[in-house]
Amino acid sequence: MTVRVPAKVNLSLGVGRARPDGYHALATVYQAVDLHDELRITDRSDGEIAVTVHTEIDLPEGAAVPEGDDNIAVRAAKLLRDRLGRPELGADIAIRKVIPVAGGMAGGSADAAATLVGCNELWGGGLTRPELEPLAAELGSDVPFLLHGGNAIGGGRGETISPILARGGYHWVFATAAEGLSTAAVYAEFDRLNPNGVLEPEVPDALLNALRAGDAHLLGKTLTNDLTDAALSLRPELGDTLKVGLEAGALGALISGSGPTTLFLVASEEHGLDVSMALASVASSADVIQSRGPVTGARLI
Ligand code: ATP
Repeated sequence: MTVRVPAKVNLSLGVGRARPDGYHALATVYQAVDLHDELRITDRSDGEIAVTVHTEIDLPEGAAVPEGDDNIAVRAAKLLRDRLGRPELGADIAIRKVIPVAGGMAGGSADAAATLVGCNELWGGGLTRPELEPLAAELGSDVPFLLHGGNAIGGGRGETISPILARGGYHWVFATAAEGLSTAAVYAEFDRLNPNGVLEPEVPDALLNALRAGDAHLLGKTLTNDLTDAALSLRPELGDTLKVGLEAGALGALISGSGPTTLFLVASEEHGLDVSMALASVASSADVIQSRGPVTGARLI
């Protein structure tokens, strides 16, 4: 059983107050992009769930993808097994990792979504996508979106997905950073920078209009991320990366989720090459990747 699952970007990320459960209220627009992890999942008769990880990318300094029970793919398989009430089920999960790790592109969440889809099929679980959604939400805020893919609004803490009307395909350039950034640290910095609280988060109408029109130039002007100041406070050098991409003609630039990956919307693949060349010379960027979106969510191949 092989499952392919994409990374996500947040075209807008509105962050509200910290809720009593510790999560922040979010209003975000997700887009799934053509950068995929691939999971090969095979049956095991001894009831064990094991994972191996083969990384096709350089890991940021200090980051590691766990190969034991801490891997979110193992947690996903165990959660599904519990839901099915079949403790005897086992699986070997081999992850081929292409999505940047600790980069704000939801690589771990993607693997969780892929595991739910793959193990459900492998074990004959028979759960529908809507039935997998609550399990996905329990595993992480971004996991339900990665079951769907495409473009969607995320509410709640990001896990409540509403599809949106959107047209067109978009070209992206991503610059990964040599050092990862912890999502929790960026939210803590956000709280520190906003001691008096923040407004209810909203999705900008202008951004939805740009997506409806399929207008990349308009979309570039409406990309927003409320975590920008917090991420830049922890990693000031990301500001230079954003500037270099914009000076090279990107239609819009922003930090991906909690960072430190930076995203650049470009007009075409050729245009993306120019922006990539400029970004490749920036000291803080580890890797420069061209991609497109939207693409579909976790699927069997
Ligand atoms: P997000 O965008 O959802 O905030 P991220 O893309 O910044 O997340 P991930 O790559 O998902 O970050 O990984 C965060 C941490 O989760 C890693 O440093 C790693 O220790 C742990 N982890 C557990 N399972 C996985 C997995 N399958 N792939 C990647 N990281 C994993």
